[in-house]
Amino acid sequence: MEACTLCQKQPADKTGSHLIPSFLLKMVENYDGSNKRDRGLGFRLTAEDTEVHFERAVSGEKITEVMGELPEEELRNYPSPSIRDYVYCSNCEKFFGKLESAYAPTLSKDGKDNYPSTDDPLTATLFWLSIFWRASAAGTYGFSLGENEQEQLRSILVYYTESDAGSDQPEGLQTLRYKIIRSVGFAKQLTGFISFDPAETEPYCAVIGEYAAFLYFDQVKTAQIPDDFFGFEKVVADAKVNSSTTGEQILAVPDDVFLAANNKLALKMSELKTNYFSGLIIGTAKIYFGFNGKLPADTIKGIAIKIPDSDQPSGKKYSKKEVMELIASELSVYFESLKIESK
Ligand SMILES: [Zn+2]
Repeated sequence: MEACTLCQKQPADKTGSHLIPSFLLKMVENYDGSNKRDRGLGFRLTAEDTEVHFERAVSGEKITEVMGELPEEELRNYPSPSIRDYVYCSNCEKFFGKLESAYAPTLSKDGKDNYPSTDDPLTATLFWLSIFWRASAAGTYGFSLGENEQEQLRSILVYYTESDAGSDQPEGLQTLRYKIIRSVGFAKQLTGFISFDPAETEPYCAVIGEYAAFLYFDQVKTAQIPDDFFGFEKVVADAKVNSSTTGEQILAVPDDVFLAANNKLALKMSELKTNYFSGLIIGTAKIYFGFNGKLPADTIKGIAIKIPDSDQPSGKKYSKKEVMELIASELSVYFESLKIESK
């Protein structure tokens, strides 16, 4: 058995470990199989490019519009990217569980502008660090911290898994800063999504349901406006800077900030899907027809548009084989027309 990725000592014997704490995951997924129709259902994108960065998002109206409907049965069969087997040992798993139960009550806190969520800054900091570390170490969200940064977080977390951790904070903890933005209750009415910013630059950003989190290794950067991240970069300057020694404050923002982020995600998905289909069309031309030339952009576009409209049963709408067959039949029409023209 592999060693636990956190302590790197004990065997990683735990199954069903959460990369995203279950109380946050509930905001975006029906991972436990419960039917939360009012919240929408999570779906996994089949376009290969999109799987990396947005493993699971939730079908807001806009997203459904872009991606088309997928039946519930189909959705249930996709394994959650947020749950892993054999990555942590029992001790480390217990430690994550302790952090989560200590932080979970902050969910019921509320307020205007920057509101205090907890008076336990150490637990709050470790909680958010653990999320960034877990995502980076697992690599499941197409996200990674720098190698040294990942190790810095790991050694801080390991320090606190040891029961004799005293009141002195370990090296590398006090210099870390983070900001949290939240639209309280957003995930209850509308669906959220999980995404980590794949750009490997500070601040490291994550959006999970109704929360957006920003992590800084360099305090100086807390004053800078980060790069484009679903529009959250526009409000992040107003969020209070948190550390392991100052009580956590969360910036409450209106729903429309998260709604705009949802729409941006849908657009991004649509873009990625278009790129994916273009690749598939060019590939199909090569494999089915031995065509190595350049397909006109209009032809590619014309075929790509037809893919979501195919009258295949919706569950199979996006299976690679069926999509390629559909493309092949469209391409044969195109190649036929070329022959006629050349005569
Ligand atoms: Zn361990």
